[in-house]
Amino acid sequence: MRQEFKAEAKKIMDLMINSIYTEKEIFLRELISNASDALDKRYYEDLKSEKEVNKDDYYIELIADKDKRKLTVKDTGIGMDETDLIENLGTIAKSGTEAFKKEMKKEEIDQLIGQFGVGFYSSFMVADKVSVKSKKLGSDKAYIWTSQNADGYSIEEIEKDEVGTEVILYLKENQEDESYDSYLDPYYLKNLVVEHSNYIRFPIKMLMTKSRPAKDSTEDKPKYEEYKEYEILNSETPIWKKNKKELTEEDYKNFYRDQGFGYDEPLSYLHLNIEGLVSFKALIYIPKKAPFDYYSKDYQKGLQLYSHGVKIQDRSEDLIEDAYSFAKGVVESDDISLNISRQTLQRDKQLRFIAKQLNKKIKDHLLDMQKNKREDYETFFKEFGNTIKMALYESYGMNKSDFEDLLLFYSRKEDKLINLKEYKDKMASTQENILYAVGPSLDRIKKSPQLESVDENVDVLLLTEKLDEFLIKMLGEYKEKKFKSINQVDDEEVKEEDKDDILKQIKKVLPDEVVEVKFTDKLGELPSMIKQRGEISIEMEKTLKNQPNAPEIKAEKVLEINKNSKAYELLEKTSKEDEDKFKILANLLLDQAKLIEGLEIEDPIAYAKNMWKLI
Ligand code: ADP
Repeated sequence: MRQEFKAEAKKIMDLMINSIYTEKEIFLRELISNASDALDKRYYEDLKSEKEVNKDDYYIELIADKDKRKLTVKDTGIGMDETDLIENLGTIAKSGTEAFKKEMKKEEIDQLIGQFGVGFYSSFMVADKVSVKSKKLGSDKAYIWTSQNADGYSIEEIEKDEVGTEVILYLKENQEDESYDSYLDPYYLKNLVVEHSNYIRFPIKMLMTKSRPAKDSTEDKPKYEEYKEYEILNSETPIWKKNKKELTEEDYKNFYRDQGFGYDEPLSYLHLNIEGLVSFKALIYIPKKAPFDYYSKDYQKGLQLYSHGVKIQDRSEDLIEDAYSFAKGVVESDDISLNISRQTLQRDKQLRFIAKQLNKKIKDHLLDMQKNKREDYETFFKEFGNTIKMALYESYGMNKSDFEDLLLFYSRKEDKLINLKEYKDKMASTQENILYAVGPSLDRIKKSPQLESVDENVDVLLLTEKLDEFLIKMLGEYKEKKFKSINQVDDEEVKEEDKDDILKQIKKVLPDEVVEVKFTDKLGELPSMIKQRGEISIEMEKTLKNQPNAPEIKAEKVLEINKNSKAYELLEKTSKEDEDKFKILANLLLDQAKLIEGLEIEDPIAYAKNMWKLI
């Protein structure tokens, strides 16, 4: 029975076989990693069934057959039945398929391959025929799956005694510029295992040909004989269980890459060994770049969870708070009972305890980075800061004390990102509030008349992310200092000059959204600007306008007029002489101030006509 691969699977295999991914040798790491997962599952099942387990029964073996030019990766894992073979090897990693429907650049493909670990299919980079013999735990039938050049596949029933899987690679013919023979060389294979799969927790063994002095060897006439012996190629102790002192930066980086945690190097990591009421070890990474699907619904957070050397969960979501969704890594605790089912894990007391400590450690690590490795922290914050902001926002600021110190905002005075404490520490004793300004870009905010009207010695946080203003509102204050927008007009006592009749006259000819008209002496050449009263800001008005189903909500606008401007001179003159012209002028001042804010004006045609009428 011959079958076609699903369309997406075929596409990705073609991409890969055509050697987009240049390091062909990674196929071995991928197959070993699959074998290890299968062993984890088998071990877990065996423990649950309370059958007697013998650790020696769980292993991976590499078998190189030089004559037939085939390499076999064998495991005694959980195995696959017919359905598994079709589902698992006949389609591609499901989460990746959507991405493959669009055209992609080479780097994107590389990143995707790195992220999803196209795994099994990488076999076709080195082999033109691949067979998979497998027998599933609990099943009495075994099958062989075969594909030539990744062009469709067939499945047949076979005889196989042992539970587990054998992936058999029939290596490609050597090419002028490429030899595949090295994948049959035991010492080369051993090096690959040490480099990429050293910390697999099951033994990876291979029959090695060695030599020793022969029995009839003498000192004068040394003779050697060959013999064969199984050798375990990997270290077996997982990296997170090792002592930090034994490990190098390179070890940490390799583990990160080999686990498929990220495509490039991690930005930072923390290796924990916590002893206490509940003890655990953990190795947590902070990636340098967000995965391409990070800010989509598809992204799933979580850490690998081990207990007693068994992987219980591949992605334990309960271990990590939403604010730290970016974290990748492994947690192992022997204080978690192996018998609890995967569903009830989240209610497990020990697990909650671990999660609490772990999240605190991650926070401390981030704060430490902020203090001592500022540049790295900024890289982190630019990439993942929104996760923290979202988590704060979605909890209605309830857990703000946990996260507010992790936030960075752009400082006008320092001309760089600062945290809230740094802002507060530099506030003059007379300054009551933490001031902020909102706009579409730093450049626009820096040029805004509202900012120019704030004393240069007073720092202002410049917010450019849509979420920022909502977040600030949610926070309300930082350590008893209230946040205040520089656009916000206080309900302070009315100044004498603001009682001027002409202001009332202006307000009368303006639309209702203008709740007040005032004078200002803080505008240089500009004749007018808008500020706001109340809770709805001008930026919010803009954001809401762009939402499809949001109600039309307008900020309560205060029009401030520059008393020293030509425009005002003209306005004053016409106020007594020409009612029509006065109305046109007043609305022009409002419309111009709106345009500066990036707001739409009510009637652009009238605006253009009126302009020329006045000139
Ligand atoms: P991934 O490992 O990223 O899921 P692969 O293409 O490498 O993608 O493998 C697809 C699936 O095939 C695995 O998730 C697993 O269910 C199954 N599989 C692969 N290799 C083995 C194996 N040696 N033993 C049991 N199942 C396997």
